[in-house]
Amino acid sequence: MLTQKPVVAPLPPTGARPPGDDIVCWMGGRFVPLSEAKIGVMTHGFLYGTATFEGIRAYWNEEQGQLYGLKLREHYRRLTDSAKVLLMEPPMPVEELVALTVDLLRRNGFRQDTYIRPTLYKSTEAIGVRLHNLDRDLVVFAVPFGEYIAIDRGISAQTVSWRRNSDLSIPARAKIVGAYANSAFSKSEAQLNGYDEAIVLTLDGHVSEGSAENLFMVRDGRLITPGISDDILEGITRSALMELASQELGIETLGRTVDRSELYIADEVFMCGTGAQISPVTMIDHRTVGDGHVGPITARLAELYFDAVRGRLPAYASWLTPVY
Ligand code: PMP
Repeated sequence: MLTQKPVVAPLPPTGARPPGDDIVCWMGGRFVPLSEAKIGVMTHGFLYGTATFEGIRAYWNEEQGQLYGLKLREHYRRLTDSAKVLLMEPPMPVEELVALTVDLLRRNGFRQDTYIRPTLYKSTEAIGVRLHNLDRDLVVFAVPFGEYIAIDRGISAQTVSWRRNSDLSIPARAKIVGAYANSAFSKSEAQLNGYDEAIVLTLDGHVSEGSAENLFMVRDGRLITPGISDDILEGITRSALMELASQELGIETLGRTVDRSELYIADEVFMCGTGAQISPVTMIDHRTVGDGHVGPITARLAELYFDAVRGRLPAYASWLTPVY
């Protein structure tokens, strides 16, 4: 007889399912305890990855006693766009999604940095792969969250052997759940080889992005990032950093095709995303980036970004939705 030993894995520091029923989430058109928010095993979105999601952060400002939802409108606009690509009706107008999220955060009373995960999924319980003629439901939950990858030191990255989903297979600009198997292949290849992150190339061999981050490089004082036709997710942090670089540092960003070998000779490289925030990359494929330290433009942008998202830069108040 096979006996199964209970495995008690230590909880990761952030992003784990919190114990108990005290987290409230949104599912089936109402607020329910997280422990009751379940889907059936025949749910289409689970069987086929036919779902779209967003990862959103809310930042706690201790001095102000305020929690700020970051770029909520932009995230829900992108969710609505992804829904369109997946032949789904949006669950409600963007403004209502924003209000729902604020309500959710208030009900949970979060007074720390928080990660919000709305998922809009094909909810019909049926076999049969397709996009059309399926119901959909929205789930939103939020959990306390800290760093996703290191931000205070340089990370190492590997150009992985997997290629980014092409727009001809699964469009990367829509945040489609099934497409994240591609991210998982990439991230695991890099991490199991001893690197912190993956750099993923397009089918034709140009730099696309990280496993769940956009990528920038600095060459001769200029910011360069792969363009929106290089099978990237059109990142909200990417746009935010372009705005900060332009407004605060007078540096315009060039969106263009980037070769892998350009990263090796770049002065600075960093990855960015809602989860990643700004993560300096100081080693790529065994080559030191620049002098191997966090570069000055990366450091300055990170400083500005964290001031903006925590509500310390009034010029960027429009990025934020105060929860309390
Ligand atoms: N690319 C991928 C594949 C991602 O999953 C993410 C994270 N959402 C990003 C880029 C960064 O996007 P954003 O800044 O909008 O979070």
